[in-house]
Amino acid sequence: MSSFNWCHGPSCHKSHTQDRIRGVKGSKVLRTKKVQQYTQEDRMYNYFCSQGCYNDFANKHVREVIAIAPRTEALETPIDVVKEQATSWSGHTYMETKIITVDNDVG
Ligand SMILES: [Zn+2]
Repeated sequence: MSSFNWCHGPSCHKSHTQDRIRGVKGSKVLRTKKVQQYTQEDRMYNYFCSQGCYNDFANKHVREVIAIAPRTEALETPIDVVKEQATSWSGHTYMETKIITVDNDVG
């Protein structure tokens, strides 16, 4: 089983870093980086060598990515808003606003 992926950043192979240099004198290249698999969890850092490469990919393919799960209306989380008197580290009292998620799941 393969223990690495090639970075999916569309410009990974264009970054001028020494760890991308491959080949012999006269025919050297900058090569896409390998991304080691440190976990069985399927996470984006299994496919991208950096946040920059992830951003490049997401920006280049944003239409396709959004098409996977389009958001056509707002989502809402039911809450209660509670005002409570609280005391700061210096002994000063103030009103604190707490947002408490209401679990409406009846299942
Ligand atoms: Zn990369």
